[in-house]
Amino acid sequence: MKFILMVLSIMGLFFTNPIQGKIQDQDKLLVIILMGPPGCGKGTQSVELSKELNLPHISTGDLFRENMQKQTELGKLAKTFIDKGNLVPDQVVVDMLFDHIKKQGYTKGYILDGFPRTVSQAETLDKRLGNDVIKIAINLSIADDLLIERITGRLMCKDCGTPFNKTFSPPAKANICDKCQGALYQRDDDTKEVMVKRLSVYHNQTAPVIDFYKNEKVYYDVDAKKSKKEVFDSIVKTIDEVLSKPKA
Ligand code: AMP
Repeated sequence: MKFILMVLSIMGLFFTNPIQGKIQDQDKLLVIILMGPPGCGKGTQSVELSKELNLPHISTGDLFRENMQKQTELGKLAKTFIDKGNLVPDQVVVDMLFDHIKKQGYTKGYILDGFPRTVSQAETLDKRLGNDVIKIAINLSIADDLLIERITGRLMCKDCGTPFNKTFSPPAKANICDKCQGALYQRDDDTKEVMVKRLSVYHNQTAPVIDFYKNEKVYYDVDAKKSKKEVFDSIVKTIDEVLSKPKA
């Protein structure tokens, strides 16, 4: 058994892709922040990025949906905001997120999807992370009119949360998840009415986070109207370039 494990770990060294090697070489925690308006593709790209970098993907929206499905007190509270297209109050999100991170005990880093969504959340994240961290904030930018079509066609897996789109990334079998065979459903907040509200909330409360990260010089912009593959390649290239810079 020991011998098999040893062979597998040696094989792992050969099969680790170059960017995973660069992450392993870092002695600091790596925090990738994927930002952008609702429907820009954050969720889809985060799932792929998590595999490519071998880093966990944390979506605050998924954590809320999990709680809503289980009908926990947190889930019931979050639903009253989410169904109207509003943000859940900062303190509730921050407590949920850091409780999750603490329980999982991530050591190399993680990908944040949907957090921070306000400047106050970004400030809290900075305080919790301290200075011994590499932060990369990537914004998937795209015009509002393209987003409504994407969102109203979105389907999600009830079991594993993988997102699909009826037009842009349909599942192989109608209404069945390609990954886990779970049933696909449309989110209650993916209607045109709620989406209009979510976009106005995004412009008022989340867009200022862009300037926050620009000031910190950790901000990078990716054009999200390109194909899924092109967007993914740009994200990976950006991260690779940051990790390839000589250490200060
Ligand atoms: P998402 O799946 O990222 O689109 O999130 C779905 C909904 O969950 C959002 O529209 C918000 O109501 C809520 N939510 C998720 N993340 C946050 C956050 N960081 N701050 C406040 N509300 C959030």
